[in-house]
Amino acid sequence: MFTLKKRNKFAIVIQAKHRSLPNYDRKEFEGLANAAGYTLIHFYSQNLKKINSRHLIGVGKLEEIIHNQMHDFASQFEQIPTKIEKRREEDLIYIFMNRLKPNQIRNLSGAFQTKVIDRDLLILEIFEAHATTREAKIQIKLARLYLEASRKQKEISAKLVTERQGRDFMGKGYGAFEAYRRSFKEQKSALVKELKAIRKQRELRRKARSDVYNISIVGYTNAGKTTLLNTMKKLDLETKDSPFTTVSTTTRNLIVKGEEMTVTDSVGFVFDIPHEIIEAFMSTLEEITFSDCIILTLDVSDPLPVLFRKLQTTFQILVKLGAFQMPVLYFMNKIDKLEPADFEVKRAQLLGILPENSVIHFGSALEQDTIQQLTQKLYEIKNSLTPATRMLSQESLLEMVEKINVTF
Ligand code: GDP
Ligand code: MG
Repeated sequence: MFTLKKRNKFAIVIQAKHRSLPNYDRKEFEGLANAAGYTLIHFYSQNLKKINSRHLIGVGKLEEIIHNQMHDFASQFEQIPTKIEKRREEDLIYIFMNRLKPNQIRNLSGAFQTKVIDRDLLILEIFEAHATTREAKIQIKLARLYLEASRKQKEISAKLVTERQGRDFMGKGYGAFEAYRRSFKEQKSALVKELKAIRKQRELRRKARSDVYNISIVGYTNAGKTTLLNTMKKLDLETKDSPFTTVSTTTRNLIVKGEEMTVTDSVGFVFDIPHEIIEAFMSTLEEITFSDCIILTLDVSDPLPVLFRKLQTTFQILVKLGAFQMPVLYFMNKIDKLEPADFEVKRAQLLGILPENSVIHFGSALEQDTIQQLTQKLYEIKNSLTPATRMLSQESLLEMVEKINVTF
């Protein structure tokens, strides 16, 4: 069933439902897990009347999952050793569709005898998997530091409260807190310093190519942005006059009919990013605001509500970034996965939402024909050969966000 080129990372997803917990879309969550490189083998969901403080889910559910892990999954999937002692952490992990507290992560890992992560940590893993530049890698380290600090702080303050209630005021807990704070500050300032140095270099690079037409590929995680850039590179190998050259790992030079452009890949957008890491995430996207044109990529094989929500998130992030001064080429990707009837429905819906005169292209990032048509459209936008080159405005973006709300 699976093509096993490299060691697979298997994951079991667990969702606890409770009126106090945010409810995430399952398909969308599975997309995130795939983007982090996991093959999903099972999904559990539990409706909770009361949240279990030790492991979020109830004890009965926990035992059921442990039982299945020992007996069913391992025998079904050859790559997962049946004996727990033979398993490596990355063979099989558990991902919660919720946010977990540090003690819950510890208790659950102990119970399952393997790694357990939650939605926030999964998002960090995706960023890690897609971080190709040194800057992005440092941004992620910083984000992880913030996330850990915020969790650790909550845990330590809870302990401090308990200590204060006893006689041990300024005792062990306080010392640990101070030590942690110092180490956090040191690590943070080292990372920030490194980031500043890299930013300066980037600024210089950007100035050097500021007379070149810059295009940014943006969109939700898993939309096919990197594939798009990679297919462009492949085209390079098969074309005589070599239209693409690599500027950096994520930026490539593209020459269309003698005109030079650069195309830059970006980290994917994700719905509801934890506030501890949003800053790091936004600053990796800063580059987008300096581009002359945006290729907004969507995976049209997503179910319509998911597709709409992703489009909405994308517009909201562009507004937040202040990136609405440039023309947009909407690239509706993965049409090879659509039935013709489904394609027509989605096409009509999307055309109903996007502004009139939008440049929209339906295709597949895996197909060189699509790339050729896209580059032709980029050429037309660059040279104002299409009426759609008008700038976006903040109002028009917010208007579309509203329109999507109505359509939901
Ligand atoms: P990114 O997160 O936006 O950079 O997405 P990727 O480029 O990493 O692609 C995510 C997944 O979608 C990969 O498994 C790709 O092979 C797949 N993919 C991308 N474009 C297409 C397409 O046009 N058709 C199909 N069927 N799959 C695609
Ligand atoms: Mg990518």
